[in-house]
Amino acid sequence: MTIAANLGYPRIGPRRELKTALEAFWAGQSTEAELQATATGLRAGARALQQGSGISHIPSADFALYDHVLETACAFGLVPQGYGWNGEGPVSLATLFALARGARGSAAERAAGIPGDAVALEMTKWFDTNYHYMVPRLSAATRPRLVDNRWARALREGTQHGTRTRPVLLGPVSLLLLSKASDGTRPLDLLPALLPAYADALRYLGEAGASWVQLDEPCLVTDLPCGAQDAYRTAFRALADAAPGLDLLLTTYFEGLRDNLALATSLPVSGLHVDLVRAPDQLPAVLGALPRDRWLSLGLVDGRNVWRTDLRQALGQVQLAQQAGFERRLMVAPSCSLLHVPHSLAMETSLDPALARRLAFANEKLKEVWALARAADEGEKSVAGVFADSDRALAEARADARLHDPALAARLAAVTPAMEHRARPYAERAVAQQARLDLPDLPVTAIGSWPQTAEVRRLRADLARGAIDQAAHDAAMEALIAESVRWQEEIGVDVPVHGEFERNDMVKHFGERLGGYAFTKHGWVQSYGSRCVAPPIIWADVTRPAPMTVRWSAFAQSLTAKPMKGMLTGPVTMMQWSFVRTDITREAVCRQVALAIRDEVADLEAAGIPIIQIDEPAFREGLPLRLADRADYLRWATACFRLSASAVRDETQIHTHMCYSEFNDIIDSIAAMDADVISIETARSDMELLEAFAAFDYPNGIGPGVWDIHSPRVPGAAEMARLAQRAAQRIPRDRLWLNPDCGCKTRGWAEVKPAMANLVAAARLLRAEA
Ligand code: GLN
Ligand code: ZN
Repeated sequence: MTIAANLGYPRIGPRRELKTALEAFWAGQSTEAELQATATGLRAGARALQQGSGISHIPSADFALYDHVLETACAFGLVPQGYGWNGEGPVSLATLFALARGARGSAAERAAGIPGDAVALEMTKWFDTNYHYMVPRLSAATRPRLVDNRWARALREGTQHGTRTRPVLLGPVSLLLLSKASDGTRPLDLLPALLPAYADALRYLGEAGASWVQLDEPCLVTDLPCGAQDAYRTAFRALADAAPGLDLLLTTYFEGLRDNLALATSLPVSGLHVDLVRAPDQLPAVLGALPRDRWLSLGLVDGRNVWRTDLRQALGQVQLAQQAGFERRLMVAPSCSLLHVPHSLAMETSLDPALARRLAFANEKLKEVWALARAADEGEKSVAGVFADSDRALAEARADARLHDPALAARLAAVTPAMEHRARPYAERAVAQQARLDLPDLPVTAIGSWPQTAEVRRLRADLARGAIDQAAHDAAMEALIAESVRWQEEIGVDVPVHGEFERNDMVKHFGERLGGYAFTKHGWVQSYGSRCVAPPIIWADVTRPAPMTVRWSAFAQSLTAKPMKGMLTGPVTMMQWSFVRTDITREAVCRQVALAIRDEVADLEAAGIPIIQIDEPAFREGLPLRLADRADYLRWATACFRLSASAVRDETQIHTHMCYSEFNDIIDSIAAMDADVISIETARSDMELLEAFAAFDYPNGIGPGVWDIHSPRVPGAAEMARLAQRAAQRIPRDRLWLNPDCGCKTRGWAEVKPAMANLVAAARLLRAEA
């Protein structure tokens, strides 16, 4: 019997119940018992839903209150000192949340002995997803051991309700490779100490009645660092010995195994899961390498995107595996955990019906998994209705003329290499721009957004529900812009911004004004902790029917003689933070967006806006996981940015902005984007991130952030001047700008006003010294 399996279910709740419960708990409005009751209810709902969908391998312990990596680290005692944990027994909720969010000064923290200045662990992206995990912090003092039997507990919770589940553990090698050590300890050196803890967890699972256990080792799809191959062999030998009665399923996802295939198939486990959505071509190699006494789990349903599966094509993959001899040891599953897609399409009542028929969120994907498993055993006829739906949706999509815009295709075909380059090199442009702009030494600017106050959000909400009309909304927006411009002039900002008050979100705002984008009502996906995003869906060719920002930027410019900076989201970010159609390449989609942005840039220039910023905070996160794939991505991503930016005259200045980025390994591509000025986030790293620019002799202008806008603290002028001086040691001063790390939308005016005034004062201090 082919097994219908799932690797992980969304945990935020169909109506973001976990978010609500967490935020109430953090605000002191509910008890730990109430929070846990919500979590228990969500898990029960998830089990029931999966069971009802015909899934027989239902994951457990895939749930986490904040983050599964953090909870795995805590269960194994990988907890740094200074968070109130005494090394015995399970980590308290106060400690867990202090690790996740930093100390908040609550009574619970004081009672748990957590110092008021405990800072959150570093948070970073989970592989190439938009989910963020907490990076476990290790040191020579770390003593791994099983201090919380969370997996056996999760298994028992299911059993008590009549559901046998498949507990999920993040595997030991990936856990260590995703961790960092503060004192020079090599994370992998902790493996010998960590393995007995995993062995204990597996032993308890065996005693609690587990049969299959899922061990996630996503690092197996990456370029492994030195020593990792041996670590895998050591680890899995130990785990297999520890739990002879358990069937271990080694799960890999987000890419193909490639050069790690021989390693993965040599490990002593009962089964291997492979991602056949990201890497469909790896199937023949996997079939060739996997011993026939193993189970093969085929990841055929896309856990990273929202489209229906082409069931016929997927069944073809199943049949290849059957013919190769795995017909009695086969599982069908999503490519990865369903954490990365929204819960359910059923709640989306206002999507275009034709589009909705092409979509599958987590719940719909589970039904596809079931149908594939059934078809594998009993033939397609046994699930003829499901296959017919899939066929019809695909045929409809192929025939849907709305997906393709012939005029756009013609325009794209006519793009010349010259259109992807500014007419003259930076050095000449810089002279023309300075002649036009007459900027002082160390010009001061902002990244774009001013505080999104309750008042600002209410205006948008009132417009959306019809409480005010467009004219009233626009008038109120203009008043906000006018006040912000007046204030920026008053304090002496050299390049003001209009403030982005009209925007709900930097991608959604533009998506709503472009053709080809669709939006969900409840399509929430966890980003980190209680934070969720609802990525738009790019389902058709992207076009720009009308200017999107010109009205606001031109109005702002009309109020001041200072050069107003126009503000756009770049093509890579517009795509990266969306669910993207798969019938054409990502490169093709990105070029379409680039052309739309290019038109907007041209319109801004024509409206007299002398400086235009094209934000690309997601540029780096688009990097493929494998080094070998990166050059191709960087080639088209930089070309798309330049296509969007290069329609302007020499004297029009193009800025870009990137936050949360490391630049060392992509600095040549950053230079190839050829923005006149790039602003980056550097305040928290004490200008360390500038090293890459200095070492590369980065030729264009740079605005290293001197104010960490993630913190409510207001830095003084002297502190920002000191950071700027550090920057000036690395970057020639005539190419330096002064600005905050990022936009100020999450801050309040009470912080923004003094901080910006101090920033201007810092610039004046440095100018006076020069
Ligand atoms: N211009 C945007 C803002 O200021 C940039 C946001 C971002 O970098 N994430 O809000
Ligand atoms: Zn930013």
